[in-house]
Amino acid sequence: MINIANPNLKLMRKIFALSIASVLIFSLICSAEAQNIKTPEEFFGFRPGTDRKVFNYEKLVDYLKLLEQSSPRVKLAQIGQSPLGKPMYVVCISSGENIRNLDKLKEINRQLALNPDLSAETVQNMAEEGKVFVLATLSMHSTEVAPSQSLPLIAYSLATTDDPGKLKCLDNVVYMAVPCHNPDGMDMVIENYLKYLGTEFEGSSLPRVYHKYAGHDNNRDFISLTQEDTRAIDGLYSREWFPQVMVEKHQMGSGGVRYFIPPPHDPIAENIDAGIWNWVGVFGSNMMKDMTADGLKGISQNYLFDDYWPGSTETCIWKNVIGFLTEAASVHVASPIYCEENELETGGKGLSEYKKSINFPEPWTGGWWRLGDIVNYEISSTYSIIGTAAANKTAVLKFRNFMCRNEVNKGKTKAPYYYILPAAQHDRSEFVSLVNLLIEHGISTYRLQNDILVSGQAIAAGSIVIPLAQPFRSLIKEIMEKQKYPVRHYTPDGEVMKPYDIASWSLPLHRGVSCLEVDSLIPDLVSGMTLVKEPFRLSKPVPDNYSAACFPVNNNESFKAVFMARARGLEVNRTAKGDFVIKRDGGKNPKLDSIINLMVVSPEFLPQGTVITANPVKIARIALVETFMHDMDAGWTRFVFDSYSVPYKIVHPGEFEKTDFIKDFDLVIFPDNEKSILMEGKYESDGQTYPTSYPPEYTKGIGKKGMVKLMDFFNQGGRILSWGGSAELFSGLLSVKAGDTTREFRLPVRDISKRLAKEGLFCPGSLVRMDLVPGNPLTAGMPLSTGIFFRGDPVFATSIPNFDMDRRVIGKFPEDNILLSGYCEKPEKLADKSVMVWLKKGKGQLVLYGFSPQFRASTQATYKLLFNPLLLP
Ligand SMILES: [Zn+2]
Repeated sequence: MINIANPNLKLMRKIFALSIASVLIFSLICSAEAQNIKTPEEFFGFRPGTDRKVFNYEKLVDYLKLLEQSSPRVKLAQIGQSPLGKPMYVVCISSGENIRNLDKLKEINRQLALNPDLSAETVQNMAEEGKVFVLATLSMHSTEVAPSQSLPLIAYSLATTDDPGKLKCLDNVVYMAVPCHNPDGMDMVIENYLKYLGTEFEGSSLPRVYHKYAGHDNNRDFISLTQEDTRAIDGLYSREWFPQVMVEKHQMGSGGVRYFIPPPHDPIAENIDAGIWNWVGVFGSNMMKDMTADGLKGISQNYLFDDYWPGSTETCIWKNVIGFLTEAASVHVASPIYCEENELETGGKGLSEYKKSINFPEPWTGGWWRLGDIVNYEISSTYSIIGTAAANKTAVLKFRNFMCRNEVNKGKTKAPYYYILPAAQHDRSEFVSLVNLLIEHGISTYRLQNDILVSGQAIAAGSIVIPLAQPFRSLIKEIMEKQKYPVRHYTPDGEVMKPYDIASWSLPLHRGVSCLEVDSLIPDLVSGMTLVKEPFRLSKPVPDNYSAACFPVNNNESFKAVFMARARGLEVNRTAKGDFVIKRDGGKNPKLDSIINLMVVSPEFLPQGTVITANPVKIARIALVETFMHDMDAGWTRFVFDSYSVPYKIVHPGEFEKTDFIKDFDLVIFPDNEKSILMEGKYESDGQTYPTSYPPEYTKGIGKKGMVKLMDFFNQGGRILSWGGSAELFSGLLSVKAGDTTREFRLPVRDISKRLAKEGLFCPGSLVRMDLVPGNPLTAGMPLSTGIFFRGDPVFATSIPNFDMDRRVIGKFPEDNILLSGYCEKPEKLADKSVMVWLKKGKGQLVLYGFSPQFRASTQATYKLLFNPLLLP
């Protein structure tokens, strides 16, 4: 252990730069406190980071509980639970005094974060009394095991150190780590790794998504907050703890730089204040300096990872947190890899060659790369962050309140001043759920008590007003406005920096909720508004003597009522307009009443004796096709279906041959996937085919026989829905059985997106406009025009069919004004092209979508296009 007499804050970073060495030898040191606490080696039976040795989530939590019992510096708090029901925690490590004062320190955090009216003197006092809370979220992506595996070493070291420099840091910082952001996935991946350890498939991929639903997309959920683990972590920085600094810890590919640290690369989000970026730069610069001083090589910044999109854990930067990510080069879970020096390469933004550069000052030169190496980088980077936070404690805390005042002030002096959600909405259930989501984000929303005029436009009582003069102003603006991608070029007039991820997330547009941006101040608005409390609902009491409830087809929630009612054995009828009528089942606490009580919008209650013309609704028996290959779009489909109580069975591609579709199902759904994965269980890229990293029992595709079976089901009256890349399954020659032989056919549709891309169309994931045909059962409850989440392909061209086939264009791009939100090059190439098509062959029906109607559970505007086909007569 390094002993430095009378350390001061300037020395602190130097001390932490040496801390790697101190951690490596900590088990040899016996401080007074350490004598009573089991070391990680003693507890786990190996030093975390040892080749091929890993512990699971329960073991990790057990160790942290042991530390909590043994050390006054450690406090564990439950923050929620995972989607599969595992308890989730944050572990706080700080001086014993800070841990005893946590409640008081949290209150200081809250005041600094949310109170714009503190006097300068109060802010100064709070900054002196308060501590910097550094939140670290570990291993949300479960194959990226090192951050969680390194935590016991960090926690033990901090809990037991008697090093004066470290103790001084613990006086100034509360390190709060989420031991694992994704406990379900951690246990799945560890179990799978240990299952194949020592076999030829050691290090193979987990044959499913490493989460109940979202898989890798769990890092895209921090606007929609659909998943329980997302909400648990968002709550830490939106409503409960208000840390000032946040790092999310990841791993990346194996063949390039060893470690990415902040700052990120362009483009960066326009709505984030310069002060946030500047502090991110300070933490990043110190990490580069400290980690290099620790002897760690291959560290790069300003590289690959841009920062223009919200949705990751780092969405906290829109809530004034100094937030960033780190990314370590991966091994095969816990098995080491060897890299030849000339195999190492880069290609991302900011680093064109794997060569010494200003943002990559000391390249790693290859060799063995092990879990233990990543663990060392994790320890070093963590201590650097804590050291920077401690050394800048007062400034960081004052900055947090500056950001609060600054954002509130911007909201008072710069347009837009308000967003208004009018009370009259096409889908009132989405209107209500949007308001509740905003409240969950820590945003204050208000309800108008009286009708008002805004810029000559009448706004009715009951409308929702969201003022921008709030501490989280930048988030409000980001998620309420239409997105305009921050276009930046590598050189003047040169190539555009392409988006890393999607380019649109506007909540009103994605949900089909109309929203008004108000660019002028309305002086007496505040007096006529009341704060909306969670949960917001538009419900009225269920009357005693109604005969039936009518659920309007415009509301997504009505479909939920239908699926729930059918699951409970209630009869559901559908009117010609598409509304759903459910008769009351009578008795005390009847089934229908209990469903109504779950709805955020009340249905229309029909009095006794009402005569309605309607036809009974039957829900299709659904086969949902999910591959074993981290099938995130299928996972999101399961999530949406489970949320709406839609019944379904999973069928894997390899099971097609033995599945009796005609007997067991009415409808088969293919979420977005690649044709080669579905048909053969292989990846295809640039005309080359690649095997996957799964054991062979998980890679069987549909195959030719399976496809004939599916086409027979189709021909004989089966229904198929297919979107995104999966639509390609139905292009080219197909065949059905004809007696003892097969008969070939070609559906009257083809994908023309490759041609459009050659002509310059580029759409990375934006909201574009689609016009719908009215009067078709597939479009019931939809407006005539809607936003769809589109990623450039497929785009359809239909043709005049032969024999027993037919087609109808259900949705097409308009002539102009195609792009609604996001980024698109040459959108005019899409003009008048088809993007949703209904096809018929024999008695069967097929719906092809050029978009995912349920993309990441964030495109509620198009959910009805998915639900309607499930209820076709
Ligand atoms: Zn990751």
